[in-house]
Amino acid sequence: MHEWAALEVHDCQRCELWKTRTQIVNGSGNLQAAVMFTAEAPGKTEDLKGIGFQGQAGKLFEAILFHLGLTREIIWLNNAVRCRPLNGGKNRTPRMDEVAACRPWLMEDIKQVEPHIIVTMGRIAYESVSGRRDFSENRGTVVNVGFGPALFPLFHPAYLIYRRSARPVMCQDLVALGHYLDKLDIPRIKHADTDTTFCLP
Ligand code: SF4
Repeated sequence: MHEWAALEVHDCQRCELWKTRTQIVNGSGNLQAAVMFTAEAPGKTEDLKGIGFQGQAGKLFEAILFHLGLTREIIWLNNAVRCRPLNGGKNRTPRMDEVAACRPWLMEDIKQVEPHIIVTMGRIAYESVSGRRDFSENRGTVVNVGFGPALFPLFHPAYLIYRRSARPVMCQDLVALGHYLDKLDIPRIKHADTDTTFCLP
C-alpha cells in the first residue's frame, strides 16, 4: 500500500522521455517520511507498474531497507527522472539534459516531504540532488550541500547485481548510514532474524 504524493505528475513533457513512457513513475511511500531514497530512473517493470524499484533491483533495495530496519511504508522513494530512458528497447542511463529537466519535480518532492536525510542511490541520483560531481569521493559519507537535508550517497542496487565485489563496500556504507540514522533519532526496526538481512554478520 503506497500513499501517493500530493505532487503527482501526470502530463509532463519537459524532456523527450515522455514519448516512450507507459506512465510517469511518481514518488511513493510516506509523505511524512524522515528518510528519502532517490534512485536513478524507472526500468521496464517500473514503467509498467508505476512504482519505483521492482524486479531484481527492487528485491535488493528491499533487502537493504530490511537491513537498515526501514520499510517502503515509512520512507519516501523517488527517482532523478520519472520516465523510463530507452535505447533500442533497453534501459539506458538518463542523459544530463533529461536529469536537469526532471530536477524541479525532485526538488518539489524534497520541499513537500521535508525529509531529515536523503539517501541517493548511484551517481546520477547524487549529482541530481546535490548539483555536484564528486560521487566517488563522498560515497558512504554524510554530505552537506548547503540547502535542504544532508545527503548520504550509496551505490545503486543494480550495480551490485553485476559487481558482487562491491557488496562488502555497500555493507560498510550501510553500517555508517545506520549510525547516522540513529544520530538523527530516526526509528528503525530491530530484526531478531538476521539470516535474511542484506549483510550477514
Ligand atoms: S522524465 Fe521528468 S521531465 Fe522528462 S518527461 Fe518525464 S516527468 Fe517530465
